[in-house]
Amino acid sequence: MKKDTIAAIATGITDSGIGIIRISGENAIEVGDRLFRLPSGRKMLFKAESHRMYYGYVVGEERNFVIDEVMAVVMKAPRSFTGEDTVEIQCHGGVLVMKKILAASLFCGARLAEPGEFTKRAFLNGRIDLAGAEAVMDVIHSQNEYALASSVSQLKGILSEEVRKLRAEMIHEIAFIESALDDPEHFILEKYPGELSVKIENLSDRIKKLIDTAENGKLIKEGIRTVIVGKPNAGKSSLLNCLAGEERAIVTDIAGTTRDILQETVKLGEICLNIVDTAGIRDTGDIVEKIGVEKAKESAESADLIVYVVDTSTELDENDREIISLIKNKPVIVLMNKSDLKNAVTEEMIQDLFREEGYPEDSFQEKEVITIRTSAREEEGLDIFEKTVKDMFFREEIKSTSEIVITNMRHKEALQEAFDSLLLVKKSIENGMPEDFYSIDLMNAYASLGRITGEEVDDDLVEEIFSKFCMGK
Ligand code: GDP
Repeated sequence: MKKDTIAAIATGITDSGIGIIRISGENAIEVGDRLFRLPSGRKMLFKAESHRMYYGYVVGEERNFVIDEVMAVVMKAPRSFTGEDTVEIQCHGGVLVMKKILAASLFCGARLAEPGEFTKRAFLNGRIDLAGAEAVMDVIHSQNEYALASSVSQLKGILSEEVRKLRAEMIHEIAFIESALDDPEHFILEKYPGELSVKIENLSDRIKKLIDTAENGKLIKEGIRTVIVGKPNAGKSSLLNCLAGEERAIVTDIAGTTRDILQETVKLGEICLNIVDTAGIRDTGDIVEKIGVEKAKESAESADLIVYVVDTSTELDENDREIISLIKNKPVIVLMNKSDLKNAVTEEMIQDLFREEGYPEDSFQEKEVITIRTSAREEEGLDIFEKTVKDMFFREEIKSTSEIVITNMRHKEALQEAFDSLLLVKKSIENGMPEDFYSIDLMNAYASLGRITGEEVDDDLVEEIFSKFCMGK
């Protein structure tokens, strides 16, 4: 298929040290050749050695008009990211200079790339599979260490590898069933349902395991939605500042919500807490007072974690009771703050209050409610808080980042569909249905998994996935 040649600024559109203009496609070298001159003024990129840097200048179309001093590299097909002939020009990283070089390359025959088009070509040319392409984007957008590590391992193909193994085993069975149905004389299917049942069990278990990681995956990728509650002056802001540490918390608007709901991201070691409604907390010191009971309830309901800060130097009162009544059925970490001052509140008193507000006895044993003594002033207890959050949300499996963690909801859905199809196979076996029933559902499971790696996707989905990519990627 003849493909036109595309160009884009591959680096950020801000002033920076170096900028890269990437040109890819059948005429990339020709376009590059028209742009690039050696210091002697000669054109030479058309005969450049692949993967070698050349020093020189980019010239504009008016002769001898030098746009910038650059380094240029030609990467010949198929040894490039896109799998096509590619030219990359490294120029000075000024926005104007990059735009001028891009404009010059468009003038010389390239067209402006769409968002994600380089990666889409890499996918269409078989350089990477779909999960790999999505991992490229996830690496770029990774906000924390866990997310980065899991995206990189996906980039290396660990998810695709497992998916291929699962599919290979499925197609093996499908082929066997089809052959047996075609040629009943040579294949005996008598014991087959029993054997298949064991294999399906094994496949389902492995798929289920992957699905189960998605819960963690979402938290890894998006952070833990955290709501901080507590009476005014309990020390919420002070604790937040300690947690944010050197890295000042970033305040961002969440799209589609009112102006007064803000989200603040605090990095806790490798993971992120997305702290909701801190604007309310900071302004008045009281989430309930500022945003009203209903709103507070709403925030608490959508939270993954409630952090309830108690000033242990003053007695508990009706306000504490009201706060506890708002936060039912969520994991709660109670930070018993101001532990450096006189002690007016014990762990038992807090537990009693939770019980009175309807928390079951085993909330404390089951670690649904955990109390930790902290002092924002002395910066004490925060390491225990960090460890507690990790233990609460990330179980054993994800401690090793080399394992597969599903962070993409599209992948999770495809896995779930495959799992459901396998359930139908199991049912058909149990009910003694004819063999062709098995192969229909197995085929569906096979197709669902194929959507992860991109072996079975329609063009619309490909368009949709890549349109979310950034420009120049
Ligand atoms: P907020 O209203 O819950 O956000 O509370 P602040 O963080 O504004 O703290 C209220 C007051 O308590 C401030 O004067 C803090 O310096 C003080 N404070 C916060 N944490 C501690 C602590 O652990 N020990 C002591 N002694 N004072 C604290």
